[in-house]
Amino acid sequence: MPSCGAPGEYRAPKSRTNLTEYWWFCLEHVRAYNGSWDFYKGMSPAQMEAQLRADTSWQRPSWPLGHIGGSAWDENMLHDPLRILATGGLNQRRAAPPPHQTPTELRDPLETLGLPWPTTLDAVKTRYKELAKRHHPDANGGSRSAEERLKTINLAYAAVRSHLAAEPRLAATG
Ligand SMILES: [Zn+2]
Repeated sequence: MPSCGAPGEYRAPKSRTNLTEYWWFCLEHVRAYNGSWDFYKGMSPAQMEAQLRADTSWQRPSWPLGHIGGSAWDENMLHDPLRILATGGLNQRRAAPPPHQTPTELRDPLETLGLPWPTTLDAVKTRYKELAKRHHPDANGGSRSAEERLKTINLAYAAVRSHLAAEPRLAATG
């Protein structure tokens, strides 16, 4: 500062485009300079937006997740004997059991309905209608045990039906 006689011991960059050259100020004047410093001065809103985005990734280029790695993946360039990273690899094979193995959560419901696995939505609906008719309390003189039996059948039907609806690939194998 021309009018200031204090020693210039504190530095501040000259401008946004010249961040490696500095002015030297005394403490009081460096504070005043920094207080009026506006990094974004003269930028358009789009330029400010771009600058903010660049800052969030440490000024390194970035892409949306999966944009590059997912589509341009060359499986031949990677030694992956367990195919953990491959499309349809280990993770996907784990998620779906073999089609003819009864899913654990359906063993009891299928036994209740008297159906084998795999089965179809049509077969389940047909069997449910038969059982609901046969075990309906009205057809059994208002029997308490028939009512309980019907509740169990309803739960079993709901479980199998929602499973088949969620996995149409398995439903089609029956
Ligand atoms: Zn000063």
